[in-house]
Amino acid sequence: MGRHDWAHVLDSVPTGLYIDGQWGGASGGGRIEVADPATGEPLGEVADARPEDAVSALDAAVGAAGEWAATPPRERAEVLRRGYQAMTDNAEELALLTTLEMGKTLTESRAEVAYAAEFLRWFGEEAVRIGGDWSRSPSGAGRMLTMRQPVGPCLLITPWNFPLAMGTRKIGPAIAAGCTMVVKPAKLTPLSMLRLTGLLAEAGLPPGVLNVVTSGSAAAVTEPLMADPRLRKVSFTGSTPVGRTLMERAAPNLLRLSMELGGNAPFLVFDDADLDLAVAGAVTAKMRNNGESCVAANRFLVAESVAAEFSARLADRMGRMRVGHGAEADTEVGPLIDADARDKVTELVADATDRGANVRTGGSAPSGKGWFYSPTVLTEVAPESRILREEVFGPVAPITTFDSEREALELANGTEYGLVGYVFTRELNRALRVGEALETGMVGLNTGLVSNPAAPFGGIKASGFGREGGAEGIQEYLATKYIAVATG
Ligand code: NAP
Repeated sequence: MGRHDWAHVLDSVPTGLYIDGQWGGASGGGRIEVADPATGEPLGEVADARPEDAVSALDAAVGAAGEWAATPPRERAEVLRRGYQAMTDNAEELALLTTLEMGKTLTESRAEVAYAAEFLRWFGEEAVRIGGDWSRSPSGAGRMLTMRQPVGPCLLITPWNFPLAMGTRKIGPAIAAGCTMVVKPAKLTPLSMLRLTGLLAEAGLPPGVLNVVTSGSAAAVTEPLMADPRLRKVSFTGSTPVGRTLMERAAPNLLRLSMELGGNAPFLVFDDADLDLAVAGAVTAKMRNNGESCVAANRFLVAESVAAEFSARLADRMGRMRVGHGAEADTEVGPLIDADARDKVTELVADATDRGANVRTGGSAPSGKGWFYSPTVLTEVAPESRILREEVFGPVAPITTFDSEREALELANGTEYGLVGYVFTRELNRALRVGEALETGMVGLNTGLVSNPAAPFGGIKASGFGREGGAEGIQEYLATKYIAVATG
């Protein structure tokens, strides 16, 4: 297997900057290499934008903003519907691109394409339902008209772990709301977003509405945009430290922000849980996307009385998962994104084992090319271990135990993060009690999968704020205007 097997797919990717409806090179002619994390070999190159290119992209977004805001909602909805259809028609090609640049298995990439496309369909359906209100003032002396208007030009910054879905989760509602935008994809995975951009252009998106700027200098190309008073909003998905930096940079212009940041999800298994369901849920919550997901289960907290059985079954299941190139048919776990990601996982496991953790399966990186790490289960993990406090972003499941519901909640909430928590129990009252008490924006009750375009996705605490998807997602791109009406 090699480049010749997928050359046609790679060759279909436009590799320039997309500004004002035109593809072009970066002003300095610079390029950045994109590599296959399973082999380390190059897949191709994309344009390396300079700050002045990003400013040109903002110029285009500003230029298109008025007309796009005035475009009838039905027309905006139709563009999204055609975009959804184009993604669906080209699903195999998009999935292969995602696997090649990001590493996840083809099965996972197909699921991501479907998930990503659904944001376009969902927000196309929302575009025509942006409401307002007309009411009588309490004194009866006047009328109050409220309407929703697009916030204006947006900067959308996306991570490498779901290169398509984290894009459409922002692009979909921005288009639906009538906003124009500059998208800055992650430098490690720009190819699938560039291909998607081509599909959206073919779907009839007018020039200037969507501008895409790939760059190896994220801070340098986004700084002048955030300092520019014409930009009105930043939506960011990525790590908490970068989110904090962006909030500081947003302060002078009081930019509206949506922040989808890191997680440290607890996965709670109570003594009355259905263990078949809990193990299946654990595999999904841990191993989806090779463990490189903000909603990945990061800490397994298991009732003492069922911990031995749960640990043995999870270790057995994870130990049998086939590791390999994501494009190979029988692969269940692909590589991590790069050497740094694998080094971090290696360090976290070493720290845990130095403090006495038992390796039940895995615990090392296979030799050979690519950034692979074996699916790993650790038990007897000491409370002060780094792996319980930091985002692992890899296929490692650390298991600790609890004796009471109260202790489980204290452990679960003992983190600065608050994105998602998973709860496995058969008892309805406990499920609801614990679900409410978890300090997270989302909870999976007896399921390891919460992501759904029709649901509000997002966190609290250091996991950020704002919601993507669901009925809330479009509100992030709308400003409420109130008009006081004198009725005489
Ligand atoms: P990251 O390093 O924070 O990067 C995310 C994006 O921000 C990339 O496009 C990156 O560009 C850009 N960036 C980095 N530094 C920047 C700066 N100083 N100014 C402006 N932009 C900057 O995160 P990542 O490693 O790609 O993604 C993994 C993180 O995302 C994890 O923490 C994960 O939990 C989080 N995540 C959260 C959600 C959610 O919905 N809550 C979803 C998915 C992922 P470059 O690629 O050029 O570095």
